[in-house]
Amino acid sequence: MRDTAHVDDAPGLLDRLAAGTVICAEGYLFELERRGYLQAGAYVPEVVLEHPELVTGLHREFVHAGSEVVQAFTYYGHREKLRLIGKEDLLEPLNRGALEIAAAVARESGTLAAGNICNTNIYADDAESRRAVRAIFDEQVAWIAQAGMDFVIGETFSFEAEAQLALAAIRDAGLASVITLAVHRAPQTRDGLDPAEACARLAAAGADVVGLNCIRGPRTMLPLIRTIRAAVDGHVAALPVPYRTTDAEPSFQSLTDPDCDCIPGGRPFPTALDPFLCNRYEIAEFARAAAALDVRYLGVCCGAGPHMIRSMAEALGRRPPASAYSPDMSRHAFLGTDATLRAANRAWAEEL
Ligand SMILES: [Zn+2]
Repeated sequence: MRDTAHVDDAPGLLDRLAAGTVICAEGYLFELERRGYLQAGAYVPEVVLEHPELVTGLHREFVHAGSEVVQAFTYYGHREKLRLIGKEDLLEPLNRGALEIAAAVARESGTLAAGNICNTNIYADDAESRRAVRAIFDEQVAWIAQAGMDFVIGETFSFEAEAQLALAAIRDAGLASVITLAVHRAPQTRDGLDPAEACARLAAAGADVVGLNCIRGPRTMLPLIRTIRAAVDGHVAALPVPYRTTDAEPSFQSLTDPDCDCIPGGRPFPTALDPFLCNRYEIAEFARAAAALDVRYLGVCCGAGPHMIRSMAEALGRRPPASAYSPDMSRHAFLGTDATLRAANRAWAEEL
């Protein structure tokens, strides 16, 4: 298996995983939607062409916070999504543009450049659909290979069979792969497999890293990761969404908000999830728990912010550049302990 490093003597993904944990920030779609440059609904990353500088900037922010992978922003940038919005002519420039942006940030920062393919939403268990899905993956993987990316992330697959098609496309191009499944409310794939069994099959088919991303928050993803870890010999990935999912509402789509009656349609997903957001300490706790299971490919998906990635990195004992600005409450005007602070303000802290 080729594991192309962008700089000849730099360690590639598999070298880095052999040595320890690799952090990969995801969640570009949600973050750029929040910032007002991407439309919720179709969720197509046209921002790559419309505001490439914002994509470059967000890559840099995540790297600054500790991400060691720059994931090209081609999530939902595939042919089916561009057909849906009537812009198939943008398919190739969008993909090539996103790859170029990610590769440039990886090069300047000494991180890994990853191509990205994802759920097509047209997979069905018939020959015609399989052919169409595979064609979507093949054209994107060809652009990824031409861009010289270090490896390919195939993510958010609800069907194990669709993940297998993605893996086959990546392997046929001779590239290393991280394949992650999306598990919704029921703890199984959409084709009815236990996630551990599905991951074992993907590993057996040659995926370099297998695991889960998106959909479930730390609390409802970790138990599944434990079973995957037990079923797989190779590397395992865990990239939850940063939301407080529960046993009763285990996916972020299933969350309900009894404290709010003004959400259009009534469902917090995807644009009213704010009150469910995990704090940075919960993300750190997840990182420690996953690392203790020897889960070596870690990240945060939809909803992630740089502060969460920094928290994850620090939980693993690292100090990314952003750690220079990690909290130091000792000099807070009211809550601090610094001897030069005004005693009256510190005494008043109880009134805050
Ligand atoms: Zn996600």
